[in-house]
Amino acid sequence: HDQQVADIHEGIVNTLTMLQHKIRKGNVEVAQHFDTSLPPVKAYIGELNQVWTNLIDNALDAMENNGKGVLEIKTEKDGECVKVTITDNGTGIAPDALPQIFDPFFTTKDIGKGTGLGLDIVSQIVRQHKGSVKVQSAPGRTQFSVSLPAKA
Ligand code: ADP
Ligand code: MG
Repeated sequence: HDQQVADIHEGIVNTLTMLQHKIRKGNVEVAQHFDTSLPPVKAYIGELNQVWTNLIDNALDAMENNGKGVLEIKTEKDGECVKVTITDNGTGIAPDALPQIFDPFFTTKDIGKGTGLGLDIVSQIVRQHKGSVKVQSAPGRTQFSVSLPAKA
């Protein structure tokens, strides 16, 4: 299949709709900060939706035992790129785990709850789109940002 010209926000909103049951169950508040003037990206739309799904799913897992989970999704222009930043106020990632989280089969979740493939898939899809993904984490705060080249 071919790449399509995609509105980044449409995929994010569809992903949130798909995950709305888990969002409600976790009592998570979603804060969207969308730059509506963003240019489109050229993308494999289904693959890109997998990126948002995997990142948001992890954020929801991390906030599972949070009284008040807050998931923040921000979009902005970043030079020639479109940048999506997903922030949660969950457990955070332990410093010794951080270098391994993108490795296939690395998981800290119970058997049956995690395959450890989510972030491996994210990095593959982001690479396929010639983008980049960065992570920052501290106890109580984790932030993933994905940058994708805007359509020329
Ligand atoms: P899985 O979700 O199946 O464990 P992933 O590849 O999606 O596999 O994630 C790997 C690991 O990275 C998780 O098990 C978890 O330890 C850590 N992780 C990823 N995202 C977050 C997050 N938002 N907050 C805390 N830990 C995270
Ligand atoms: Mg996962």
